[in-house]
Amino acid sequence: MSEKHEKEHGCSHQGGCGCTPPLFVNMVEKAGLALSRRDFIKGTTAVGGMFAIGGLASPMFAGCKGGEKDKPAEAVAKDIAEAIYHGGPILTMVRDGDRAEALAVKDGRIMAVGAKADIMARKGDATKLIDLGGKTLMPGFYDPHSHVVLQSVKFATANLDPIPIGKIGSIADIQQTLREWIKEKKPAPGKWVIGWGYDDTGIKEQRHPTREDLDAVSTEHPILLMHISAHLMAGNSRLMEEIGVTKDTKDPEGGVIQRKSGSNEPNGVLEENAMLLVLKKIPAPSPEQAMAMLEEGLRHYAKAGITTAQDCASGKGTWQLLAAMAQANKLPIDVNAWALYKGVDDATFDAIAAHKNDNGRLRLGGVKIVLDGSLQGYTGYLSRPYHVQPGKTQIATDHCDSEEAESLFVSPDNQTDISEDLQAPGEGHRGYPSMTQEQVDTWVRRCDTANVQIQAHTNGDAATDMLIAAVKKARTDKPRPELRTTIIHAQTMREDQLDFAAEHGLTPSFFPIHVYFWGDRHRDLFLGPERAARINPSRSALDRNIKITLHHDAPVAGIDMLAVAWTAVNRMTSGGKDLGPEQRITPFEAFRAITADAAWQNFEEDRKGTLEAGKLADLVVLSDDPLSIDPMKIRDIRVLETIKDGQSIFSVKCRATATKPIKFITLGLR
Ligand SMILES: [Zn+2]
Ligand SMILES: [Zn+2]
Repeated sequence: MSEKHEKEHGCSHQGGCGCTPPLFVNMVEKAGLALSRRDFIKGTTAVGGMFAIGGLASPMFAGCKGGEKDKPAEAVAKDIAEAIYHGGPILTMVRDGDRAEALAVKDGRIMAVGAKADIMARKGDATKLIDLGGKTLMPGFYDPHSHVVLQSVKFATANLDPIPIGKIGSIADIQQTLREWIKEKKPAPGKWVIGWGYDDTGIKEQRHPTREDLDAVSTEHPILLMHISAHLMAGNSRLMEEIGVTKDTKDPEGGVIQRKSGSNEPNGVLEENAMLLVLKKIPAPSPEQAMAMLEEGLRHYAKAGITTAQDCASGKGTWQLLAAMAQANKLPIDVNAWALYKGVDDATFDAIAAHKNDNGRLRLGGVKIVLDGSLQGYTGYLSRPYHVQPGKTQIATDHCDSEEAESLFVSPDNQTDISEDLQAPGEGHRGYPSMTQEQVDTWVRRCDTANVQIQAHTNGDAATDMLIAAVKKARTDKPRPELRTTIIHAQTMREDQLDFAAEHGLTPSFFPIHVYFWGDRHRDLFLGPERAARINPSRSALDRNIKITLHHDAPVAGIDMLAVAWTAVNRMTSGGKDLGPEQRITPFEAFRAITADAAWQNFEEDRKGTLEAGKLADLVVLSDDPLSIDPMKIRDIRVLETIKDGQSIFSVKCRATATKPIKFITLGLR
C-alpha cells in the first residue's frame, strides 16, 4: 500500500483494517474453517465442503431438502390434500388481479389452487382446513440480494444503527440500548457486550462515546462498540483492562489509541490497526455457536416472511458452515450462496459450474464480482463527478464503507492505484472502480464459457459501463440472455445502459430503500437533484420489459421486504419528500420483484415465486392485501405466518408451539 494512500486515507489497509472487520466476519469465517478439521456431524466427514476438498461431496446435499414429516395415512392417498387454505385473498402473483379462493398443499408443494369448490374436493378427514380469516396469502418473499451471515452477526449484537436506519440519535440512546440489551440477555459477570453500527456523525453530540460514557452502562462487562464504518471502535474501561491498553501502551503501526485531551490516558476509542488489540482477546464463537447464530439469523428472515435468502459473498468458512447446517437440516429457509470472485480458485470454479443447478436448502448461485464501492461512501464509480465534493475525511471514514456489505470482504489493494490512473488532479471526484477492466473482462468470459451466472455489484454508472464493456467483448456473436447476468444495485443506470440491458438480457436488482434512507442526501450531496430523481430507475427498466428485482442488501438496511416494496412504489425520502415520482412502480410490479421475478432471476421460477400447482409451498400470510391497500400503508403490513415447504416456520399466533422461538443467541457471551 502506497504511502500516499496512507496519508490521504489515514488507513493502511493491512491486517486489521476495518475493511475486513476481523472481529465479525473473520470470526464466522474462522469458525467455519475449523469445521474442516473436525468430525462435526456424527457419521460423516463430508462437511468440509467444496472449498476445502475442491469438489462438492455428494453426501453434502443429501440432507438439504426440507424434512419430510410423518403424514396421516389417509392424506398420503392420491388427490387428498394435507392442508387447504381459504377464507382470505390468495394472491397467485401470476398476473395482476389474479386471486384464488383456496389453495391445497401436499408433500411440501402446492397441490392445487383455484375456486373453493374445486379445491375442497381434495379434502379428506385428515386434511387440515386453514381459515385465513380475511388475511392475505401469497408466495413467500424471495430475497434477491443480501448477506445472511453478516445480518446474523448483526442480530447477535446490540443494534446501534443511527436514525433513520435504526433508533440511535444520541449517546444517551446508545447507553439506553446497551442497558436494555444487558437486561434482556443477562450476560454473566465478565462476559463481553458487543454493539454494532454507532455513527459519531449521526448523533447529536457529534463525537464518539468515551470510556466514561460506557462505564456508566457497566464496569463489570467489557463493552465493545463497532463504528458503522468498521474503521474504529469504542470501549469501556473494563475493555481497556481486558486488552491491556494503558497510558503506557504505544500506538501500533497503522493504528491510533485515542487519548484524553492533555494526557496519555486512553479515551476508549481505537482506530484502524489498534483494533487488532481487541482481536487477540475477543471470545470467538465455536463452529456450533456460529451455526446456532446463523440459524437464529435465518429465523429472523423467516419472521420477515422470507423463504429464500442470499449470502452474496460467501467465503470458504461461511460455505462450510452453511453446508454443514444444510446437511443437518438446520437451515429453516433456503439459502443461495454466491462465491466472491476473490476466493474462487480453479477447483472451486469447477464445482460451481458442475453444481449450479442443484436444488436444495442450500444452493450455489454463481460468482459475485464487485466493480465499485457505495454512493454514500463516495466510492461508487460515476461517469460524472459527485454533486458536492467530499472532504478528505469523508472518504477516509467511508473508504471501504461498511454500509456496503461487499466492501467488508473485498480488500481494496488495488483501488488507489486504479483511481490514481483514472482521476486527473483537479477533476471532480467520481469515485473509483474496485476491479480493473481486464479483471472484469476475464471473469465475464470465464463465467460465460462455463455458463455460470454472475452477480455484478455496480452502484455508479461508470462501473456499469465496465460491466457492459466486458459483456460486449465476451458476447460478440450474440446476446446471452439465458445467463441472466444480474446487476446488483444498478442504482445509477442510465437510459442508454437500460437499452443495452434490454437488448442483452441483463437483469438489474435495484436497491430502492436508498430512496428512503439516503434519498435526501443523494439529492443534496452525492448525486444532485437530476441524478437522484433517477436513482434505482425501476420504471425505466420495466417500460423496456426488463425483469427487475428489489433488495435491501441486509445488513445494510434491515430485512424488511415490505419496506423495500413500499419505497419502490412510493419513492418518498425519510425527509418526507418525493424523489423521482416518475420512477414509481405499481404494487403488483414491486411484489413481483420480490417473489416471481426474484425466483426467475435466480433460475428458480420452476419451483418458486408464484402460487401454482407443483411449486413449493413457500407461503406468507400477511395482515393486509398489499395489492389493494393504500400504497402508503404497505410498510405497515405485518407478517403473520411464514410457511416453508408446507410447514409453518413462523407464526405470530402460536410461536411457542408450532414454531421454534427466537433464542437470542449472542455474540461474545461465550
Ligand atoms: Zn453490493
Ligand atoms: Zn450486497
